Order: sequence, then C-alpha cells, then structure tokens
Amino acid sequence: MQEKKQIAILGSTGSIGTQALDVIQQHADLYEVYCLTANNRVELLAEQARRFHPAAVVIANEAHYEMLKDMLRDEPVKVYAGSDALCQIVQAGPVDMVLTAMVGFAGLPPTISAIQAGKKICLANKETLVVAGELICHLAKEYHCPILPVDSEHSAIFQSLVGEDDNEIEKILLTASGGPFRLKSEEEMQTVTKTDALRHPTWDMGAKITIDSATMMNKGFEVIEAKWLFGVSAEQIEVLVHPQSIVHSAVQFRDGSVKAQLGVPDMRMPIQYAFSFPNRLHLNSQRLDLFTKPLEFFKPDMNRFRCLALAFEALKQGGNMSCVMNAANEVVNRAFLDDRITFPQIATVIEQTMQRATFDAAPDYDVYLASDAEARRIAEELIIKNR
Ligand code: NAD
Ligand code: MG
Repeated sequence: MQEKKQIAILGSTGSIGTQALDVIQQHADLYEVYCLTANNRVELLAEQARRFHPAAVVIANEAHYEMLKDMLRDEPVKVYAGSDALCQIVQAGPVDMVLTAMVGFAGLPPTISAIQAGKKICLANKETLVVAGELICHLAKEYHCPILPVDSEHSAIFQSLVGEDDNEIEKILLTASGGPFRLKSEEEMQTVTKTDALRHPTWDMGAKITIDSATMMNKGFEVIEAKWLFGVSAEQIEVLVHPQSIVHSAVQFRDGSVKAQLGVPDMRMPIQYAFSFPNRLHLNSQRLDLFTKPLEFFKPDMNRFRCLALAFEALKQGGNMSCVMNAANEVVNRAFLDDRITFPQIATVIEQTMQRATFDAAPDYDVYLASDAEARRIAEELIIKNR
C-alpha cells in the first residue's frame, strides 16, 4: 500500500485551512496531517489537533503557548510557539507538502524555508509571490520544488495548461467576480462601510482577502501572482469581470484556442487538485448546472478600482515596488477593518506610500524585509496625517 502523504498546514484555522482539512478528511486513505498552525485561535487549533492527530502544532503568537499546551496535555502532540517554529516545522523530514494558507507577508519566511527543504508547496498565500515573486521562483528552481497554485484562478490556468507542455501562452484571461461594489458609483463608494465590504457576492473567505476583493487589490495581486507562476508579462494578462464566478480563468494559445476551467465557487476543488495533481479525486461537493444562470463578462473599471491600476503600475516598475504596495495594503486593509479610514482612502494611502518608499530595482531578501517595514511605517504616518 502507498504511504499516506504528510501535509503541513500553515494557517489551519482560517478559511482555506479549514476547507483543506475537509478535503483531507474526505481522503483519509491518502493524506495525513503532519502539522497544524495558527496565529491566535487556540481553541479551534486544539480541537483540530484532537480530531486530526498531527505530530506537531505551532501557535505563532507566543502569548497563547501555555494555554495551548495545557489544552493538549493529554494528546501525544508536540506543541511549539513563535514564527521561527513555523520555519522549522515545515522542514521536518516526514512532511511531503506544505499548504501555505496564512495571511500576508508573514507567509514569506516559512514558504522560503519549505522550498529550501525541497517540499512541494501548495500555495494559497499569494502575498508571498506579490512581495518576492522573483526570489521565490528562483529558489523553487534551485531546490527543484514544485509550486502548485491554490488560488482558484491560478488553479484554473494551471489546469488549462495540463498537456500543453511547450505550447506558449499567448494570453491569460483572469476572471474576477468584481466584488460587492461592482455596480456602485464612485460617489456611492465614498460612504461604503466594512460591513458592506465584507459581504462578498460569491466567495466566503477570510476578512483580509474579502476587503482586498472589494477594492480589487486582490485581482491586482493575482495578476502579479500569474506573472510569476506562469512566466508571462503584464501585457499578456487580461482581467475580465465575471460576476457569476463560474469560469475560474482561461488561457489563450497561439492558434487562438482558449481553454478554461469551470466549476461552482468552492475552494475545496483547487485545494484538492493541488494536493492530488496530476490525479483527480472524487470531491463531495455541489455540481455545476450551466442551465441556471447566464455567464457574463465585462471590462474592469480601473478608475473606480484604483487598486487594480496600482498593481499593474507596481508590476511595470518591478524591483521592490509590489512588496511596498503589499505592505501598504496590509496596513490600510487593517485600518479600514478598524474603522480608521474610509474606503476611498485605501487606494490613496497605497499610492502615496508607493511614491514615497525607497525604490530598489534588484532587491534581495533583506531588502524585502526593510521595504516591508518602511512601507508600513509610511502608510501608518499617512493614515494618522489624513485623520
Ligand atoms: P483567514 O484569515 O481565514 O485565515 C488565516 C490563517 O492564517 C489563520 O489560520 C490564522 O491563524 C493564520 N495566520 C494569520 N496571520 C498569521 C501570522 N502572522 N502568523 C501565523 N499564522 C497566521 O485567511 P484565508 O481567507 O484562509 O486566506 C489565507 C491565504 O489564502 C491568504 O493569503 C489569501 O489571500 C489566500 N486565498 C484565500 C482564498 C479564500 O477563499 N479564503 C482564496 C484564494 C487565496
Ligand atoms: Mg482568487
């Protein structure tokens, strides 16, 4: 019998993390959880550990260590705390694949660490590629480490490329739901609240990415993610607003042929495909019914969704600019959730941070760390000044 694949989940208590555990549960004959990690949600992490019996758990926020240790005192599981422990656990010998389902820049160090240990990466944490796409691709090549996309659009592109081997991509058609403010006027967008922004029409996701979807920064990030994953230029990526979220994305080849992947919006499908590639496994989920609604496609409005335009700009400038943009976005995203800024201020602060931060055309890891810190500082200052 084939040995079960051992999976480390970075961010097991989140939206992607919990859906990944559902996939693993549906295929307990194939997959086993080696390690579960979270930042703050101690109780859920302990409950998951009791259910999935991992070899180890890590709580990134060290303040929760004692509590977690106490909750798991009767379980045969190693308990660790701190961000360094995340970097160490992904390198553990038995780990076959690492699902990066943490949020934000914090996902970068453990992803690099997993690549350096030659682990297969199932990448949900798109911020890693936004911040340091060039470095990550370089390392993945050096360590012969496959990166399987979990983001639904990139999984769709990846699936459309199966069997195409050396056939060049002419164009990527990257679909976007358009988010909750797709039909709002610029004037209406002045006064939208976080409650409005957190009401995503088609996907149920963590708070950070849901706000990024409302600003369409998420789609900007995905353009950058696609550039690095599939080796295309920004000019080869077209964003299409597709409110039904059924066509998850498509690839156009040089004979004009377009291949797309379709399905109901359910992240368990791309998560499972990243685990099982090149095989397809049964998934207990809803099936697509193409008779129920028409499929529509529109051009995105870069004037109303300035964040999308900023992401194309960051890509054009290259170097550390998308790292700067990501850091500013993390700060304003949090500030919007904390009612410290208005919706339109999100793009303004990001744009001004990109203008002020120190540009570096050829960043290395230390430059990314410094740029991230500097951009966060600038964005915070701008928020305080604008109040
Ligand atoms: P979430 O907020 O629901 O969950 C985040 C997880 O990461 C939690 O387990 C949390 O404990 C952990 N975490 C957060 N900050 C951390 C830190 N500093 N150190 C260690 N752990 C930390 O987020 P999500 O919606 O599951 O998204 C996770 C990632 O996947 C993001 O990068 C997001 O862009 C990407 N993604 C999500 C979806 C989706 O449908 N939710 C789709 C595509 C891509
Ligand atoms: Mg996506």
